[in-house]
Order: sequence, then C-alpha cells, then structure tokens
Amino acid sequence: MKIELDKACELIKQGKLVAIPTETVYGLAADAKNALAVQKIFKKKGRPADNPLIVHISSLKQMEDFSDEIPEDAYRLAGKFWPGPLTLVLKRKNEVLDIVTAGLDTVAIRMPDHPIALKLIEETGPVTAPSANRSGKPSPTKVEHIVQDYGDSLPYLDGGPTNIGIESTVLDLSEKPYRVLRPGNISSDEISEILGEEIKRANKSRKSPGTRHSHYKPKASVHWLDLVHTDNLDPNAFYIFHNTELEKLPSNAIHFHGDYSLFARSLYDLYRTADLEKLSSIYIEPFSNLSDSPIISALFNRIEHSVSQ
Ligand code: AMP
Ligand code: MG
Repeated sequence: MKIELDKACELIKQGKLVAIPTETVYGLAADAKNALAVQKIFKKKGRPADNPLIVHISSLKQMEDFSDEIPEDAYRLAGKFWPGPLTLVLKRKNEVLDIVTAGLDTVAIRMPDHPIALKLIEETGPVTAPSANRSGKPSPTKVEHIVQDYGDSLPYLDGGPTNIGIESTVLDLSEKPYRVLRPGNISSDEISEILGEEIKRANKSRKSPGTRHSHYKPKASVHWLDLVHTDNLDPNAFYIFHNTELEKLPSNAIHFHGDYSLFARSLYDLYRTADLEKLSSIYIEPFSNLSDSPIISALFNRIEHSVSQ
C-alpha cells in the first residue's frame, strides 16, 4: 500500500515496517534500535536469523551510535562515497542489537543516496533495511516487485525504479587487511585509490555471512549462453545479450548494447518477469572481460550466484 513520507515516519516510530526506495534496491525498513521491530523484518521476509542486516544512516554522527572503533579510513571512504552504494563493516558497540548483527561482533552501515530514504532516516533515526524481497526472491527494484511479494498490505514509499538495481558493495573494515565481501557498483580499485593500499576480494574463509544463503535467483533456471549454438533458441526461454553483434534479435530476447548500467537496473526485473511468464530458463551472454567496469563484475557476481549448477 503506497503511503506518504509523514505516515512512513510515524509507522517506523511505532515499530512497524515500511518498504523504502534506495539507489540500489528497495529496502524493508524498521527502527534499528527496536528489537521487536527488527524481528518483524525476519518474519516478513522469511529471512534466516543468521543473515545480518545493514543499518542505514543519514549522518556520520549516527555511525558513532553503532561503533566506537571507527578507523580514520571509514571517514575517508564516507567522505568520498557517502551517500552511496558502499556498506562498511565495523566493530560493533555492545549495545547494538544482536538481532541486527546476527550475533556477530561487527555491524554493517551505509548512508543511502536517495532523498526519500535520507529524509525518512533524518526524522526516524537509523533503520535496518535489508532488500525488501521475500527471502529467496530477487531484490525489488520497483514497487511492483514489493506488491508481487507481499500483496498490497505492506506499506511502501514509491521512489520509482531504483537507479543502480544491484545491492551495495560490502567492505569489511573490522580487521586488516580490509576485504570486499560483496562486489557492487563501487569497485575495490576505487576503494584502493582512496585508501592508498590494495583492497582485494575476500576469499572463502572470510565471506559475507548472507552469501551462504541462496540469493538473487529466479525460479527459471539461469545459464550462461553458449554463443556458438544460438541457431536453435528455446521458445520457452528468455535470452539476454549485451555485447555480441546479432543480425536479428529474436523476439524472446533483449540486447543491452553495452549499456551495463541499464543491464544492472533491469536484471532483477527480467528475472521476475521470466517467472511471471512461467519461462523455464534464462540464457545470458557471458562477459568477455570482468575488469572493464565495476558494474560488470557486480553483474557477473549476481548472475553467477543465480546460475543453475
Ligand atoms: P541485503 O541488505 O539483503 O542486501 O543484505 C545484507 C548483507 O550485508 C548480508 O547478507 C551480509 O552479506 C552483509 N552484512 C550485513 N552485516 C554484516 C556484518 N556484520 N558482517 C559482514 N557482512 C554483513
Ligand atoms: Mg537481500
């Protein structure tokens, strides 16, 4: 159910849930300092309790409510990338709710780059806001996706389609060496440049907790397309191209012609549309070079997680 900002602030203060737009995907927001409210997120989404939430803030001062071991590097990164799609993992303060951090000794924080989200948080204080999809479904990038998952009963703020369409980069600053736990639109190279040291992707032993769970997956099976054999396309499948030249685009296909920002904005919507149309499979043109841009590596990461084994 679409609501206005004043109403959304009131509901959050009462310990209720509201879906809110951010620049990455829609989030399901609750007061980050109210355990009963945060508990409702897990129930509503069907989210496993061991998957921690990201605290969304609207000012740097609010970060200090959640951590008292904030390295200078966090302020440098915030100065460059906030508000924006970068989540920082920091050592948590004791009083941070266990339900927010899934019992970890760290807390994930970001300042979203969306005027509606920022206005709400200024009024309500920090909110935890995981992606607003039901667990196991692709993240919502439009309000229609929220209605698909919950019907019209869940209150939401309508900010239109989200600008980036893929979840934030998660950077662990809680121990050295710092590591990227989840790739996103801000690359490790951009982070390395600000910090003056090389920041790598985490290896398997230091993973983002949530990545254990099945994520980013539609019901249709997702495959990398074998470009050599494209003469016999499956009519019950959907095809996604982004780079290769085609003489004629088949009717059950889309071509992004190198516009990777548009591809990222559209990916989850295409997944959901394929499911609504009960298609059996989605075939995606493989990427030839992942290092071309951060959004390409983020897209590769999300698609690789959804590819059927
Ligand atoms: P979502 O908001 O649904 O995009 O996902 C939140 C994700 O942020 C989780 O699944 C984790 O991967 C990551 N995250 C949240 N809190 C922490 C933390 N304390 N340490 C490491 N990763 C975290
Ligand atoms: Mg999520």
